[in-house]
Amino acid sequence: MTEKGAAEPLIRVSALSEGTVIDHLVAGTALKVLDILGIEFEGAVTIGMNLESRKMGQKDIIKIEHREVSPNEVAKIAVVSPRASFSIIRDFKVVEKFSPTPPKLIEGLIWCKNPSCISREDRVKSKFVVVRMDPLQIRCHYCERSQRKEEIELL
Ligand SMILES: [Zn+2]
Repeated sequence: MTEKGAAEPLIRVSALSEGTVIDHLVAGTALKVLDILGIEFEGAVTIGMNLESRKMGQKDIIKIEHREVSPNEVAKIAVVSPRASFSIIRDFKVVEKFSPTPPKLIEGLIWCKNPSCISREDRVKSKFVVVRMDPLQIRCHYCERSQRKEEIELL
């Protein structure tokens, strides 16, 4: 799933001195991804939405200065964009490039649609088993209700 940056002339990763580029996000998910990362950024954040992509038709991309992503954040982003690619930039160079490993279990990120599910109570963290990653299908650990990608609502 890695890709050569040279094939994508729209992306100027070299403009970033250090930080993270998250590319190949499903079009329309960039704001959700920022939500996952939290809004406390020190550096500049660049968001491109509905950009043309040969591979995906349309895609979103996010560039975040002075910020790297944790494995936990990567797993969460994989939920909204399973084919996202991450480039870690240090000193104007891509030092690491990877795609997320799809999580087997998603905790505390998605809202269970079943109104009588125990996970809707305040002190219970929602927990979903990933049945299939792409397109995403998950099943609630508590009430076993399944949800497909279109139904999923992030907490
Ligand atoms: Zn449930």
